[in-house]
Amino acid sequence: MLTSFIFSPMVIFIYVSALVSLFIAVSLAEFYQLIPHFSLNIATISSSYYDLVFVRAIGLCSTLIITAYLINSIKIRIEERGKKVEVELSHYKSLDKVKSNFILQVTHELRGPLAALKGYHEMILKEITGKIEPRTRETLQRADRRTENLLTIIDEMIDFAYMKSEEEVRYDKADIRLKAIIDYDIDLFANRARQRNIQFVSSCPKDLTILANRDLLNIILSNLITNALRYSQAGKTITINAMEDNNRIHILVKDEGMGIKPEELPSIFEEFYRSQRAREIEKDGTGLGLPIVKRAVEVLNGKITVYSEVDKGSSFHIYLPKKNSKKG
Ligand code: ADP
Repeated sequence: MLTSFIFSPMVIFIYVSALVSLFIAVSLAEFYQLIPHFSLNIATISSSYYDLVFVRAIGLCSTLIITAYLINSIKIRIEERGKKVEVELSHYKSLDKVKSNFILQVTHELRGPLAALKGYHEMILKEITGKIEPRTRETLQRADRRTENLLTIIDEMIDFAYMKSEEEVRYDKADIRLKAIIDYDIDLFANRARQRNIQFVSSCPKDLTILANRDLLNIILSNLITNALRYSQAGKTITINAMEDNNRIHILVKDEGMGIKPEELPSIFEEFYRSQRAREIEKDGTGLGLPIVKRAVEVLNGKITVYSEVDKGSSFHIYLPKKNSKKG
């Protein structure tokens, strides 16, 4: 039975033939009393034993052949199924790639006009094109916020598709000063934070460097800061720290926002997952931010952990190797 699963049909055939021949030879030898019969219980040996030795040998051999045949055909079917699954899997993988490329193209096309629209809003709001009425300003500010939300969604989708096509992208690595990256990302969100009276606090040694990919670091930080801003109430603080810890870089993004329920924690890194409360607070979310962050951390050979308490806040801890030796 074991050989039927492990070896090819040819080996099984030779093996079973050898076993059957051995049985027949032993049975014949016993029948002609060339060799004696050793019974486990000598008292049960009857004279009719030798008469039935052939029947027993035939029964045993046919059971052996049928078992080997059945198991071999099961094995062949399992192999065929396995091959089918492999073909289907590669088909789905290629479909997934087509989907990612499609998202990448469409979102790129959409991003340009939207960014321009946001630029025009800002020009009008700054009264570069002429004075505006307070009511017009209010309406335009609302339009600007919606445009910005849409841009965030598009950026998340671009990052998502970018991370999905990771096999083809080579992530160049360089020595990067972390403080510069943190300051850049804080600056990117400064306006939004100011509007919501949210304060950024950061700490990072000036000369702390990491050998990593700049785009991936920005993707990680910008997505975590976007969430911290989204799920924090006005007047709260967002802390961003980076430090060296046992030859690793430890980055912390902490907020004092709505927090995450313990039963929701296992799902937050799943694609498209959004908690009920998140949907109520922010309609324009994709559920892609954290899967993107997780993937980016993995590409950098790092780890991400989360601690959270409902209504107290969440802290996302990222641990990255200081010198990323693996090629990206
Ligand atoms: P999105 O923010 O678009 O919903 P994400 O993948 O970024 O998608 O996050 C998934 C879910 O994890 C969110 O819907 C929310 O429930 C939870 N979450 C993420 N970050 C935070 C945070 N800083 N505070 C509270 N909940 C969070």
